[in-house]
Amino acid sequence: KPVAQCSQAEAAAAVAALVNQLNTWRQEYYTNDAPSVEDHVYDANYRRLQEFEAAFPALVASDSPTQQVGGALAEDLPKVPHPIPMLSMGDVFSLAELQDWASRLEAGVEQAVAYNVELKIDGLSLALVYEKGRLVQGSTRGDGNIGEDVTKNVRTIPDIPQTLPEPLDLEVRGECYMPKAAFAKLNAQREAQGQSIFANPRNAAAGSLRQLDAQVTKQRQLATFMYTVIAPDQYGITTQHEALAFLQRLGFATNPTSVVAADLATIDAYITAQTADRDALAYGIDGIVVKVNDLALQAQLGNTVKVPRWEIAYKFPPEEAQTVIQAIEWTV
Ligand code: NAD
Repeated sequence: KPVAQCSQAEAAAAVAALVNQLNTWRQEYYTNDAPSVEDHVYDANYRRLQEFEAAFPALVASDSPTQQVGGALAEDLPKVPHPIPMLSMGDVFSLAELQDWASRLEAGVEQAVAYNVELKIDGLSLALVYEKGRLVQGSTRGDGNIGEDVTKNVRTIPDIPQTLPEPLDLEVRGECYMPKAAFAKLNAQREAQGQSIFANPRNAAAGSLRQLDAQVTKQRQLATFMYTVIAPDQYGITTQHEALAFLQRLGFATNPTSVVAADLATIDAYITAQTADRDALAYGIDGIVVKVNDLALQAQLGNTVKVPRWEIAYKFPPEEAQTVIQAIEWTV
């Protein structure tokens, strides 16, 4: 039934059911690293909840997934506060929606806007802290304000520098992922040993990084792409494009495909090219990320409670659209 035709009581019942269902899936996905449904099923139900909440704002509950980043933290890992929260990201599912997002953003600012367009790596967020050029802490996003301490584990990831070429105090953030080949090998091994297999490389990466025993993490062959510099003005960085170059210069792994785009046609061409190359990549991607390139403008645009206003994920369409429809009929 279309949201607009629902009574308040019908909407309240649907919202309660959606919040309950989505929160169960979040627990499975974020906390247990073992989702029972595919992402596009989660996304479609999340969308429907967003539509209900937009039409019936009084029904927005504090435990709604639209108000929360991530999920419950693993109890047995130490906790790390994030003074600058690690947020989620808004998403769009078509070029038309991407255009709407850009038009709304550009209507609110005076200057011409350029974007840095990157691959959306299918892993989990990771924050790394350096003091005087030495790696002192690694943490997960957790619920955005408090993450899990995975310092010992990140020390086993070969592409993460233990020391920087300069004695900088620095926090960087990015994505930790499991390459496709490592994922295939891990699941084959687990199957042979009669263990449960991971649903996808993202969940395998999360399960492998959030280990109590760093030796287990080491065997899992994780890798990273870093893309965020915290407090970039301290290092004279003014754009996202410069931030990536800075990270690369310091020895971090950065994704080589990103481009600066001044218009939607360039973004469209990037999406087409990356979609075509997707299967050949050594790692999984679930879309592309469009970020305002100018960091001062990013700061000016700011964040909502859950997502930055200056970036958006364009998610690739699901491969079997049929499944989405069935799952929605079943859950709502
Ligand atoms: P998200 O994964 O959609 O997007 C935000 C994240 O993208 C960031 O935190 C960052 O880690 C990552 N990212 C990757 N490449 C990036 C880049 N180049 N620049 C910036 N960030 C980059 O958001 P989320 O809040 O972590 O999770 C929501 C998604 O998780 C849903 O859309 C759904 O697909 C999936 N999910 C699935 C289930 C399930 O049961 N299958 C449950 C919960 C969530």
